[in-house]
Amino acid sequence: CGIVGCILKNDKAAPVLLDCVQRLEYRGYDSVGLATYSSSGINIKKDRGKINEVSQKLHLDELPGEIGIGHVRWATHGLPTQENAHPHTDCEGKIAVVHNGIIENYKELKDQLVSEGHHFVSQTDTEVIAHLIEKYHKDGLDLEEAINKAITKLHGSYAFAVISTDEPNRILGVRKESPLILGLGDGEYFLASDAPAILQHTRRIIYLADHETFIMDEEGITVKDRDGRVLDKPVETIRWTP
Ligand code: GLU
Repeated sequence: CGIVGCILKNDKAAPVLLDCVQRLEYRGYDSVGLATYSSSGINIKKDRGKINEVSQKLHLDELPGEIGIGHVRWATHGLPTQENAHPHTDCEGKIAVVHNGIIENYKELKDQLVSEGHHFVSQTDTEVIAHLIEKYHKDGLDLEEAINKAITKLHGSYAFAVISTDEPNRILGVRKESPLILGLGDGEYFLASDAPAILQHTRRIIYLADHETFIMDEEGITVKDRDGRVLDKPVETIRWTP
């Protein structure tokens, strides 16, 4: 029911992501998970249950890396189980996705992908996003192009964020009918479903509109419209305290 992400200057992304998902708890959830990128690749820990319990059991805050994404899930497709918790990956574990929303045509997309040899491990609608991106990436598109092509196949609502071992220093994502904001820190960058998740790290916020995509890396954030034009998005400074 909420997504977060960050690129930090130090390798402590996991405790920051954990803090951010805890601040989304009020939205309601049944499962929690994080994915970070480190030299060993993408590291994922996730399970159903309360954030504190899952965190104590799995030591979520010990995942290594400067960059990562996180999720609190309110199950819509597939029971609240460990395998249905986000992040979800492609077949090879090279692409990790967190998603808030519902992919209405996931069944037909999944059937098609399965017939092409993709192996699914969850009952979620979300997992098709990871496999679609994998498919187009393997066809030769870079990550951004693969995401843009995947979006053209998705019906429904989504805010999602993606990390990949093939383009390890960035987070990419998009929103359509699910909320998503971006945060500009001091050489550090954040994303979340809602501002209170990241206000302890930055008060400089970009509000994404429907169909806008973003790429963030250690240099900054680029936002584009659905036609791929770079947008000059206003940065708002939030003065209220949650
Ligand atoms: N539809 C997705 C799922 O059931 C995402 C739910 C959410 O937004 O938490 O896993």
